[in-house]
Amino acid sequence: MSTKPLIVITGASSGFGAKTAQLFNSKGFPLLLLARRTEKIKELPLNFDNVLIENVDVTNKEELQKAITKAEAIHGPTDLLVNNAGIMLLGNILDQDEEEWQKMLQTNVIGVLNGMKAVLGHMIERNHGTIINVSSIAGFKAFLDHAAYAASKFGVHGLTETIRQEVADSHVRVSLISPGAAETELLTHVTNEQSFNDYVSWKESMGGLTLDPQKVAESIFFIYEMPQEVTIREISIAATKQQA
Ligand code: NDP
Repeated sequence: MSTKPLIVITGASSGFGAKTAQLFNSKGFPLLLLARRTEKIKELPLNFDNVLIENVDVTNKEELQKAITKAEAIHGPTDLLVNNAGIMLLGNILDQDEEEWQKMLQTNVIGVLNGMKAVLGHMIERNHGTIINVSSIAGFKAFLDHAAYAASKFGVHGLTETIRQEVADSHVRVSLISPGAAETELLTHVTNEQSFNDYVSWKESMGGLTLDPQKVAESIFFIYEMPQEVTIREISIAATKQQA
């Protein structure tokens, strides 16, 4: 058993979550890594000695709670939860299938609330613990074709700041990271061809210099490594060439 505390990361199978998992793993933290495609987590370049991997859909609060309880029985209480799992499905309000709205709101908002609820009670009891929610620049400003995604990420901003205030007196930290466009699998799930192409053209306007996911992982680590009495409330981070 590691002497370091347990870190839980949702959406660890690709993108920011995978990079964050690798960074904390390289520093010797025991990890609980969650996603639906667990086979992808198993392919990451990790030292698997203190790594638990569970197939969890964050919209299923029982599944999520069960995985966390199992990891805590081995490694002790969760000291950091990175609520990173999310999806972005772009489209114009008139064309986008409402099921895509539901999927985003369920995953990006209810998934984050499920994660917070699963760990907050014990964190408050211990007067210790940190939650970092991954939002987006689309969580505080609008972009065309992002209506339901923006609704979900503005939601993450609202719930994070509310809960931060609610638990501040317990010395539990709640933080937000809002990245700009980065090269991950996020865009690959977009079904609307026009929205997909517009996003790709927009990214190309950055001359291939979109945000490196590694920098998001490093920012998450930076928030965590501050002393417990210091909360970085929010980091907004994007490629220098991202104008909007
Ligand atoms: P990826 O698509 O590369 O990663 C998303 C991760 O979320 C995957 O590991 C995926 O795993 C997981 N996930 C999605 N839905 C669920 C679910 N229902 N249950 C469990 N896990 C789920 O994208 P990113 O790394 O870019 O995205 C990470 C976060 O960053 C998201 O919240 C996204 O909105 C946000 N973000 C991304 C930006 C970007 O440009 N890339 C910019 C701003 C914010 P699996 O499919 O295996 O379940």
